[in-house]
Amino acid sequence: MKYALVTGGSRGIGKAICLELAANGFFVLINYKSNSIEALNTLNEITGNGGKGELIQFDVANSEEISLKMEEWKIANPDKFVSVLVNNAGITDDNLMVFMSDKQWNTVIRTNLDSFFYVTRQVLTNMVVNKWGRIINVVSLSGQSGMAGQTNYSAAKAGVIAATKSLAMEIGKKNITVNAVAPGFIRTDMTKDLNENELKKLIPLNRFGTPGEVADVVAFLASEKAGYITGETISINGGMYS
Ligand code: NAP
Repeated sequence: MKYALVTGGSRGIGKAICLELAANGFFVLINYKSNSIEALNTLNEITGNGGKGELIQFDVANSEEISLKMEEWKIANPDKFVSVLVNNAGITDDNLMVFMSDKQWNTVIRTNLDSFFYVTRQVLTNMVVNKWGRIINVVSLSGQSGMAGQTNYSAAKAGVIAATKSLAMEIGKKNITVNAVAPGFIRTDMTKDLNENELKKLIPLNRFGTPGEVADVVAFLASEKAGYITGETISINGGMYS
């Protein structure tokens, strides 16, 4: 059985990814920051469908906490290794740049960009030793096209897109692929206050996407079938930007 770690698996896109990977036979490590009830709901849905998983709580912006929790997991599971990592956890804290505080800038950069480095290095050595791995980063349309009010978030996501390309070049020879998916507007808690009726006019497919539509692409990238795709960013945005 292969082990997959999904950050931010308690809600939204991450939850859909956990369910899809579990349905495809992965044992899923469901990470979350604070919402233990929703994380448990994700786990219960997985086990209710006959899948397997466990919860692993840490803040993806906290390097020490990640090291501690991952070390604990490795000691408890000495013969196992995470072969699929989905760096999904993310936040927004929007503001026009003239009004943006240091805190808004730093929190968004730490949670969306630093987290890629902190979490990925925890699983990289074992992927290299075992000569198989899939790293999938959930980025955003904002990191590709830019978005007014999101200089912090766009900078973080664009940083992850560039890191995806560099890491793919570093570890391709070890049979490890590194890719990103870039959603546009997807119906989750993150977008619940947006006016879909107004915004859908900007979207050629005329609607927001669903978490499941992102999860399907992630599950494909995690599979054997995607073995010759690396360094790529796949847009899932209903045609808004390519
Ligand atoms: P969401 O519904 O707000 O869920 C966020 C998830 O991330 C939750 O599971 C949350 O855990 C977790 N999380 C947040 N901060 C964390 C931290 N510091 N450490 C660990 N976990 C943390 O968000 P979403 O819409 O599913 O977004 C998922 C990803 O897709 C993000 O990277 C986001 O930037 C990206 N994205 C979303 C959209 C969209 O339209 N929704 C578009 C483009 C990109 P708790 O439950 O414990 O809080």
